[in-house]
Amino acid sequence: MISLPHADQAGIIYASTRKEVDSLYETLVNKGYQAGRYHAGLRDDERSNEQERFLYDNIQVMVATNAFGMGIDKSNVRYVIHYNMPRNMEAYYQEAGRSGRDGEPGECILLFSSQDIMLQKFLIDKSVENPERKQHELGKLQSIVDYCHTPNCLRQYIIQYFGETNTTENCANCINCKDDSELVDITIDAQKVFSCVYRLRERFGVTMIADVLKGSKNKKVLQFEFDQLPTYGLFSNRRVDDIKALIQRLTATQYLTLTESEYPVVQLTETAFAVLKNEATVWQKIVKTHKAEADDDVFSALRKLRKSLADQESIPPYLIFADSTLRDMSAHLPTTISQMRQIKGVGEVKLDKYGEKFLAALKDYAPASPSSLTPPVDVPIKKSDKTPTHLITLQMFNDGFSLDEIAKTRDLKPLTIQNHLVKAGEEGHAVDWNRLIPAEQEEQIIAVIHELGTSLLRPIKEALPEEIGYDTIKAVIAKHFTK
Ligand SMILES: [Zn+2]
Repeated sequence: MISLPHADQAGIIYASTRKEVDSLYETLVNKGYQAGRYHAGLRDDERSNEQERFLYDNIQVMVATNAFGMGIDKSNVRYVIHYNMPRNMEAYYQEAGRSGRDGEPGECILLFSSQDIMLQKFLIDKSVENPERKQHELGKLQSIVDYCHTPNCLRQYIIQYFGETNTTENCANCINCKDDSELVDITIDAQKVFSCVYRLRERFGVTMIADVLKGSKNKKVLQFEFDQLPTYGLFSNRRVDDIKALIQRLTATQYLTLTESEYPVVQLTETAFAVLKNEATVWQKIVKTHKAEADDDVFSALRKLRKSLADQESIPPYLIFADSTLRDMSAHLPTTISQMRQIKGVGEVKLDKYGEKFLAALKDYAPASPSSLTPPVDVPIKKSDKTPTHLITLQMFNDGFSLDEIAKTRDLKPLTIQNHLVKAGEEGHAVDWNRLIPAEQEEQIIAVIHELGTSLLRPIKEALPEEIGYDTIKAVIAKHFTK
């Protein structure tokens, strides 16, 4: 599990529950560390005894809940580790500030996981009654979540959080400042996330967005028919956790915001819209993982294929391709034979024999084609474009926007948008009318039109149940009764 950074020096480890304190304490003692523990579940005399031992350097490391530290002025604490994410920036700042009081270096390490957020939410929910205060607390919780995910200077984040606005200088001392990895242009990834948020109409949380981008087949995704969205599966070759981390980074850097509520909803900021319109780019330091990391899903799909080929030929699977070759494939996702040739362990003979089969398997995981990367809200600004207006509408419609969304984005009436589609249909462009026609109404409308013809709409409308609107009738006419 853990090994401590400066085992011979004084440090505090904060954990959020008594249970966690106890188990960490035991682990450390078993590993031979001189550790103490402190939480509200201990008797008064036990607590003061532990505190003494720490003050007099009889133990080096104190594992504690946030109950520990008040009124303690031990100046030679060299490090503070937060084993869990604290509940807000104020708590973090106070606890982290217990290191290095003597002016000598002090190190602060904050470990966090998504479970920490759940736990803190749960605690807020249990402990705060007043709905306004609850919301306030959830907002503060989000600030520390952002702190955990920001790729920018941590010190600056803290300073700005506490109200200082005129500092723009980086500290050159925090982990983000010291991180010398290169800035990477992640505009396209960001656009994918933002379009997905947009298509979910800014009504869902991080998990749903990540699921849709991953192309998850979970019940909720299918129930809402999000598998029909063009952003569905754009990140099919990534881990859900990585997608979530990306969303959280974009939140921490103010491209996205989360509503302050028990189930926070992800929304787009002005900056995100600018990125969608290609008016801004997104650059971030990306923590380098060990080379291109192979995705487990792809890898296991390739293994399955290898197994079935091996079974057919009655040979052991490794004779087809080695694991390392499959890993290389899943990391690089080749889409052509010549790209496949670049993969380590793929020689001409095997390329000939198996190349196509593996390419076919990889197809499901291929990165989306450039056309589907085009951000949806990019369209309306192309006013100077030569593309006729009704075809812009069509493009947006095919991109998955509803009539209302197109009308709103293009600042046109829904009726105009509908007419655009009819015109596009008449010109022979494919229009998916079914999206505008409820299946159960289609037959009814067709029957009435057979009787009355299509020259006048009003009689058709009047012959049908009231809930069937003109827009649906027009869509049926366009689908069935135009050449
Ligand atoms: Zn810094």
